[in-house]
Amino acid sequence: MRIVATKELATSIQCDAIVVGCYVGGEMQRAAGTIDQATGGAITRLVEVEEISGKVGELTKILVPSGVKATQVIVVGLGDRANLDRRAAFRAAAAPAKLLASKPRSHVAFYLDDHWDGDLLEAAVCGAMLGCQGQDLYRAEKKLTPFEQISWAVQSEAALANGRILGDAVSLTRRLVNEPANKIYPESFADAAADVAQACGLEIEVWDEKRLVTERCGALLAVAQGSTRSPRLVILRHNGGQAGDAPLAFVGKGVTFDSGGLSLKPSDSMKTMKCDMAGAATVMGAMQAIAKMKLPLNVVGLVGLVENMVNGDSYKLGDVLTARSGKTIEVLNTDAEGRLVLADVLDVAVELGAAKIVDLATLTGACLVALGLDTAGLMTNDQGWCDELAAAAQLCGEAAWQLPMFPEFGEQITSKVADIKNVGEGRWGGAITAAKFLEEFVQGKPWVHIDIAGPSFSDGPKAWLDAGGTGAFVRTLVELATGYRN
Ligand SMILES: [Zn+2]
Repeated sequence: MRIVATKELATSIQCDAIVVGCYVGGEMQRAAGTIDQATGGAITRLVEVEEISGKVGELTKILVPSGVKATQVIVVGLGDRANLDRRAAFRAAAAPAKLLASKPRSHVAFYLDDHWDGDLLEAAVCGAMLGCQGQDLYRAEKKLTPFEQISWAVQSEAALANGRILGDAVSLTRRLVNEPANKIYPESFADAAADVAQACGLEIEVWDEKRLVTERCGALLAVAQGSTRSPRLVILRHNGGQAGDAPLAFVGKGVTFDSGGLSLKPSDSMKTMKCDMAGAATVMGAMQAIAKMKLPLNVVGLVGLVENMVNGDSYKLGDVLTARSGKTIEVLNTDAEGRLVLADVLDVAVELGAAKIVDLATLTGACLVALGLDTAGLMTNDQGWCDELAAAAQLCGEAAWQLPMFPEFGEQITSKVADIKNVGEGRWGGAITAAKFLEEFVQGKPWVHIDIAGPSFSDGPKAWLDAGGTGAFVRTLVELATGYRN
């Protein structure tokens, strides 16, 4: 997909469709005003009869308008002008892109920049790219066909470039999540990571099974041992800061398929378990964007990649594992495997001298029960760090809500035979007992755990985004790294 800036007038650009915007109350953006004039007041009339209200994401088509070269004009609602934020800008660009991608169209032009600030424009450019890309990677006849070219009438080419980087990053994450588990497994994910690293200038280190044994990653290896696919741990480094600066660490859960192991999931719950590597895919997307933006800080991205399967070597209930940190873990549910993988990866992050850590994981169904499908759970040992992350998510329009980490939750993971066990007492508060487990492996470093079990994968489509992998929290991580000060 080519993304280019254009200086052409909205009335004279040759393309399949142009997108212009209207705020609540019928206030037109500049380009909408230009179209209105050229068409003898078509938009004014539509506002008068309340066809156009300006509500965020509302779409109104004007086909073969007179005085305009484009075949159609889409007027998209931008909401209240005073409340226009990145969430609205993203959706206002993504919704018309999704509508227009329902047929193959080669060239769509966006005239939404109304002296917007760079951040709004970045969000919109990213939204337009994502709206036209679907999950149907293997359908001959696509439901959504990405445009060959998107043109943007913009004030700032820098914002266009950054928006494009964000769009590419979120697309990478979505594609990795949408690929089925017979295509993306630990080894092929690591290969994909190597390609990304080479293309954008990240340093990469891949630990194979032998190295994982040498590194004593006993918890991660136990999960992997039930699969014929061997595990990997990928370390990506972006060295944009001073040589000695302690890096920010992003850690992702990469269970490329989760059958539940011997604590086998029922078929229905297993159907979407290719998405259990969304945390790892999110880290990949964010690292790619951070490298391409050449952000002036050091960041290390770590992803633990395993398949949780069933065979004669599967780890069993009652097994006691020794994690890399030396802690012993009693396994009482093999479907609580993500935290076992993360236990060792977090330990590596600490050893690499991480100043602060964020981990992302499709960790618990309990988080969905607590917060629903679209909101991530935040859990932390450091309120200041969590506040920074929550602020970044808020700016990007990604929904996140903090859950408490009272010590009582930690008491639930004490074991009679080992240091800790991998599940709490019963199902109540399961998102938090999982976080309490992870906290055991961060050695007191400032850390935020993001449970993305809900928002990372969408069973049904939204008006602005196809179903499947959403790429949630890639933009938040990039925003966090952008504002990060050592
Ligand atoms: Zn599981």
